[in-house]
Amino acid sequence: MSPTSRKRPDQNQFGITTLEDISTLILQSHDLDETLDNIVTLVARRMGTEVCSIYLLEDDGLTLRLRATRGLSRRAVGKVAMKISEGLTGLAVEQGKVVSILEPQNHPRYRYFRETREERFHSFLGIPLFDRRRPIGVLAIQTLAPRQFGGEEISALSTIAFQVSSIVVNARLLDSIRQKEEQANRFVRELEQTRQNRSHQPGEAENAARSDYRALRGTPAYPGVASGPANLLDERLGLTDIVDKADVEPRRERALLETALEKTRIQTLYLEKQMAARLSADDAAIFHTHLMILEDRGFIQKLLSAIEQRRHSAAYALKTVVSDYIEAFGRMEDAYLRERAADMEDIGRRILANLMGQSPQPLQLKNPGILVARELLPSEVASLEPEKILGIVTEMGAKHSHAVIMAKSMGIPTIVGVKGALKRVTPDENLILDANSGTLYINPPPQVAEEFRRLEADRHREIQRFEAFRDQPARTADGVEIKLRANIGLMGDVAIALRNGAEGVGLYRTEFPYMARGDFPDREEQYLLYRRIVEEFGGHPVTIRTLDIGGDKALPYFAPPQEDNPFMGWRSVRVSLDHRDIFRTQIEAVLMAGVHGPIRLLFPMISSMEDIRACKEVVAEARRHLRAAGLAAAEKLPLGIMIEVPAAVYLSERLADEVDFFALGTNDLIQYLLAADRNNPLVARYFDPLHPAVVGALGQLAQTARKHRIDLCLCGEMATEPMHMALLLGLGVREFSMAAPFIPRTKAFLSRITLGQAEKIARTALGFGESRQIREGIRKELADQGLLDI
Ligand code: PEP
Ligand code: MG
Repeated sequence: MSPTSRKRPDQNQFGITTLEDISTLILQSHDLDETLDNIVTLVARRMGTEVCSIYLLEDDGLTLRLRATRGLSRRAVGKVAMKISEGLTGLAVEQGKVVSILEPQNHPRYRYFRETREERFHSFLGIPLFDRRRPIGVLAIQTLAPRQFGGEEISALSTIAFQVSSIVVNARLLDSIRQKEEQANRFVRELEQTRQNRSHQPGEAENAARSDYRALRGTPAYPGVASGPANLLDERLGLTDIVDKADVEPRRERALLETALEKTRIQTLYLEKQMAARLSADDAAIFHTHLMILEDRGFIQKLLSAIEQRRHSAAYALKTVVSDYIEAFGRMEDAYLRERAADMEDIGRRILANLMGQSPQPLQLKNPGILVARELLPSEVASLEPEKILGIVTEMGAKHSHAVIMAKSMGIPTIVGVKGALKRVTPDENLILDANSGTLYINPPPQVAEEFRRLEADRHREIQRFEAFRDQPARTADGVEIKLRANIGLMGDVAIALRNGAEGVGLYRTEFPYMARGDFPDREEQYLLYRRIVEEFGGHPVTIRTLDIGGDKALPYFAPPQEDNPFMGWRSVRVSLDHRDIFRTQIEAVLMAGVHGPIRLLFPMISSMEDIRACKEVVAEARRHLRAAGLAAAEKLPLGIMIEVPAAVYLSERLADEVDFFALGTNDLIQYLLAADRNNPLVARYFDPLHPAVVGALGQLAQTARKHRIDLCLCGEMATEPMHMALLLGLGVREFSMAAPFIPRTKAFLSRITLGQAEKIARTALGFGESRQIREGIRKELADQGLLDI
């Protein structure tokens, strides 16, 4: 086939099916090289490119080595290595972004490796691989014919690159886990030896428990220590954890079941095809059997009668029917038939997954414990009862996953990226989670358990120290009242905010409920949600921010355009103003909910007077629309803007005339003021809340708000740090919004500082021109006043 006649794949198709295949490859393989090899083969085939290669960065962080290739000489694998300062592949790492080049030989960075015989290629596409934001390698594509890669292709490949990164990271982690496990086992053996030396004869059960001791490693996501039984949240054991619903509506449950069955059938067909292509028709036959069971009238009939006659929920019906089958198969004499029990379990698990995906029913856990899951979706986390989650362990590694955001706001110790956790933990096993070091101990020996009990007790003592402040208003030592509100995203945050004594909501990130759905929620759905939240806060204001997507937040059903610089691009209110229907719908829902309690409407990313005026126009339009429809809307609803773009700081005097309040978004404001990506560890030291330019801007904003008598609430992460809090207070900020678990501690801190002391700190800070001096100056003031220990 000539290079130009090679058929290019449909791009959307490429993205979705290839991703699914890669996920399967990842799940099925435990050997890194084999997986990388499979991935390059798959991507090259699906993309219709002659070459796909993966290069990984060595431990020195400077050398890239070819680890897998389809199209280049196989002999080059493991041999070809280059510094990141050379070659186009190195360029992708150095620049930390996609490099797409036609006629690569003409590029000054081109470097030829004889082993690869790559002079024949006329286009090059290099996609960097990252572990969080640390570069770890490159996925490189080359083609014989000159080819300009489209935005969709690049975006699909970037997602694949993300997956490749996660398997590389996990494989490396696995190595360190094995080492840790060896250590842990050695420790147990030594303990055992000591005990025997003391001629103690342990009981059988005790021995068994100890020989079961394992330790798994992950990445700490939210610190803390917890212990308790394992609550597994996965498809494998989801069935056992299902409890029935009280008021079942059979018609609805039946429809849910039918959709789930249909989805499972399609997925099974797909699995069968995939298996046949990769291995053989014989290997794929097992899925054919699954399909037969899924279509079996007896099976379906049993499920339906469990719903209709016994009035079980679809999930519970599935649990009972599948359990019966499993039991029956398990009792059979014939070994082949006995194995069908595992198939039944597999099928049940897949139907259940579809049932859950179809309608996020509340996942009810039996007892408080440590939740072990592959990954948690926001809707799942939101439906869990927080008091039953003592700790969270996920197999997926994303530190910015929703699970982590939620865990943080709930203050739950969490570790992520625990490879194979679901396979290696069984329900109700004793776990100790040390989220400070990222270790999960399974069936720990008594000595380890004892040490952690002590740590846990210390943690509880610390929590209790702040407990006393929960229900008190926030006040400085000299009685100045400060408002502490909560940042929330999902419904689950509300209870946490209330429990931690938040005086309302300073920032409701409405993109979270949007992210949790399969499509844009309609007005009614949004109205009910906002109304419920404002009612829960019983008279305290709830600040609802309109959709803030783009940058690093995408909606699954609203693909963002490919942008070189998404944080500077089409994000936030810019998207809303370009999609007025979506924007107006949200504002109408907010206005309607405003009838039920004090709501404030907040617009993100305002960078000009035109922006805010356009937003106000949409508010007016929404009011007219509601009035015409005869629907009630809040008469007076305070309007505010996020100050998070430097232009808004400079325009703050004018903007103050347009709005009722400012919300100071320091997460973005700092990144834009200092040109330092808030998520990029390479520039983390530039992202500095105590940079003199930031301190100056914050001081100026506090003054502007006071002069114009409008509210100013700071809702960026910086407020959770007492040192920053002291400074902000001194600069004149009196209202803060933060992740709710930080509120009691902040109240405790405020109760020990006087306004005079804070103002002295602010004067000191404003007098310096360097961050280091500011930081040391604040620390010294706090130390002199005995306030550093909190
Ligand atoms: C901010 O930018 O400071 C902020 C609070 O908003 P977000 O973190 O949602 O961008
Ligand atoms: Mg922001």
